[in-house]
Amino acid sequence: MFKFKQFAEKYKVYIAVGLLILAVSIISLAGQKSSESVELPVAADNDNRAVIVINYHKIDNIFHSLAVSTGDFEKQMQWLKSHGYNSITPDQLYDFVADGAELPNHPVLITFDDGYADNYKNAYPIMKKYGFVGTVFVVTSYLEKYPNYMTWAQAKEMHDNGFSIESHTVTHKSMTEASDSQIMDELTKSRETIKEKLGEDADFFAYPTGTYNLHIARLAREAGYKAAFTIKYDTVNRNSNVYALERVPIFHTENTNKDFLERLQYIPIINKDGWVKK
Ligand SMILES: [Zn+2]
Repeated sequence: MFKFKQFAEKYKVYIAVGLLILAVSIISLAGQKSSESVELPVAADNDNRAVIVINYHKIDNIFHSLAVSTGDFEKQMQWLKSHGYNSITPDQLYDFVADGAELPNHPVLITFDDGYADNYKNAYPIMKKYGFVGTVFVVTSYLEKYPNYMTWAQAKEMHDNGFSIESHTVTHKSMTEASDSQIMDELTKSRETIKEKLGEDADFFAYPTGTYNLHIARLAREAGYKAAFTIKYDTVNRNSNVYALERVPIFHTENTNKDFLERLQYIPIINKDGWVKK
């Protein structure tokens, strides 16, 4: 008769090694699968239920968590292009959420916060090369005041070439720490400046430091904005609140491009499993 106990005792080293090999192969197979097939957060062509809004800050070759290098940025644009993504404007996103308008297949809204000069010098030429447009949320009082921010002439050139220049307040003050009159000043004066410099209304707004609440959202609407962007990590869909639109922030990390793909790829999984919730 086969005695399992004796058998196990005799061959326990071999069994342990066998199990280890099996475990290692399963793990490496799983790893291969995720790096080879990058699943897109959009469900399928013509099914625009989830829209990625990417959020960058600086595109520059400096060591800073907010700075994605130009080489990495180019690879990311290349990746989006080769995977059939089409860049959209905040107006298109708004029409999709608020009015049920259709979007092109694999829509992506590429945004930049603060209005750094490197957005014009580094990101803009690369995006033009791939046929993408983007949106820059500018801190209006920083332009032409600090050398590392873009000039109004640069903003105008981007604007005239299909980019959207929108508001990120006058002074980048966190709104949850400001009085109502300060908030209204930040909202309305930045909007007036953009209108004066570019000849077009800024209808969109990004909360500085990402902090907001329902009261601030109401003030943004009162100031004339159609929608506002947060840094809540998620995709935008037709149930999104237009004054609390979700984005996917991209930072400089030890492996920026790997993290870029993972951040884009894992949104649906994170939502499904509830690891991160708003
Ligand atoms: Zn900012």
